[in-house]
Amino acid sequence: MDFNLFGLIRGRIADPNADFLIEPDGTRLSYGEMLERSGRLANLFVRLGVRPGDRIAIQAEKSVWALLVYLATLRAGAVHLPLNPAYTPAEVRYFLQDAEPALFICRPEQETEMRALAAELSVPRVETIDSLVTAALNEPAAFDDVPCAADDLAAILYTSGTTGRSKGAMLTHRNLTSNAETLHEAWRFTAADRLLHALPVFHTHGLFVATNTTLLAGGSMLFLPGFDLDAILRLLPEATAMMGVPTYYTRLLARPDFTRELVGHMRLFVSGSAPLSAETHREFEARAGHRILERYGMTETNMITSNPYDGPRVPGSVGPALPGVEVRIAEPATGAPLPQGEVGVIEVRGSNVFKGYWRMPEKTAEEFRPEGFFITGDMGCMDESAYVRIVGRAKDLVISGGLNVYPAEVEVAIEELPGVAECAVIGVPHPDFGEGVVAIVTGRPDEPAPDEAAVRTALRDRLAAFKQPKRVFVVEELPRNAMGKVQKNVLRETYTGAFAES
Ligand code: AMP
Repeated sequence: MDFNLFGLIRGRIADPNADFLIEPDGTRLSYGEMLERSGRLANLFVRLGVRPGDRIAIQAEKSVWALLVYLATLRAGAVHLPLNPAYTPAEVRYFLQDAEPALFICRPEQETEMRALAAELSVPRVETIDSLVTAALNEPAAFDDVPCAADDLAAILYTSGTTGRSKGAMLTHRNLTSNAETLHEAWRFTAADRLLHALPVFHTHGLFVATNTTLLAGGSMLFLPGFDLDAILRLLPEATAMMGVPTYYTRLLARPDFTRELVGHMRLFVSGSAPLSAETHREFEARAGHRILERYGMTETNMITSNPYDGPRVPGSVGPALPGVEVRIAEPATGAPLPQGEVGVIEVRGSNVFKGYWRMPEKTAEEFRPEGFFITGDMGCMDESAYVRIVGRAKDLVISGGLNVYPAEVEVAIEELPGVAECAVIGVPHPDFGEGVVAIVTGRPDEPAPDEAAVRTALRDRLAAFKQPKRVFVVEELPRNAMGKVQKNVLRETYTGAFAES
């Protein structure tokens, strides 16, 4: 049986004239054109020497053709390896060395530098995205998709790894197919859907969650080259759904022209990749009349939990396990399942879970329990309705005076205070307590800036003394990565001396 994800996508095309992608200037790409262009690209890949199982690395700006490279790679039975355009040449060197792609597609302005790098690393072929497109247009459109086994690799996505080496998560056709089927059903996507797509396409969220879900439904995407608030506000009236990271929603809320009228017709807003504060969830509902559907997942596991489409969408919770996905909360050291309500590490098992880290069998073995559960490294608990609440990454846990402080709990309490927009809580070395709790907060526009003494006083009867921050710093903006995740490693470095003995 053929498990090539593209076979499934192709089988769902009911009308080749239906729109697949619509760009902000109105340029349209139909499903028929998607088939034709990805066929030309797949033929070109074969002619360039790419064989099934070979990696095709691409570092390019988001574009329709960059997305077609992904689909053509699936068709050729090769392995898609997208790289964040923000990676420096030194970082790209590591990925090329580690993944040994048969073909590397780079940006035209970096051609000389990347050709030299590729030659040094014996990468056999380099094309710029432009030269690739020009060459593809001379290839035939018809292409016989390469049959794949369920366990064959479809993609390798390097995890952003804030410490240590980046690891390549190996995702199989079965992983991607099962999650795409699950999400398209859970979130009720149909051919009538038009998804506003402003996410990057080098990350699981924009590449798999958004794109595969839309493709399996035969729907269309308003395909933006990046996150552009003006364009989003202009295009929302044409969309039926939007997927974003929490920052998209906080930024929309900061715009006075983001109104209920603009989105009254829409069916769904999804948030994920970073925690959506309960505060933002409530504010969005009050302002837009929509309850954002928050889901949780990671590169290695695809999507794990989701608030239900019909049932209650609970602010501050990521919802129950998706159908076909098993989730448990375990004792971090032993993997013993914990009673309901207790905080432990979130573990997951199912056909959505990746095959392992590329060429790192020991690292892979360390992250799985003997019964096949993957250890996510996220700490959380489950309530009586099996809804999961995330309290933070295990490595972000603060241990102050021997007591565990879960940053999310403190962040939630601080974000409820007047004048506070966002908050990140970290632990930094403390001469007395081992680690001291530090909060970094941002203020709300047009409101008096929060101040340290007021925040600390306000928390006195809200949090146990050991959880209260011993220092509060007010900043303009929190450092975030491309997916809107707060970079706590950066904050820990910045504030490491907060309790240094003078
Ligand atoms: P990535 O592999 O880049 O998608 O990052 C995955 C990590 O993002 C997870 O392990 C979580 O720590 C975090 N994450 C994803 N979705 C959520 C969410 N809804 N709430 C809180 N954290 C999330």
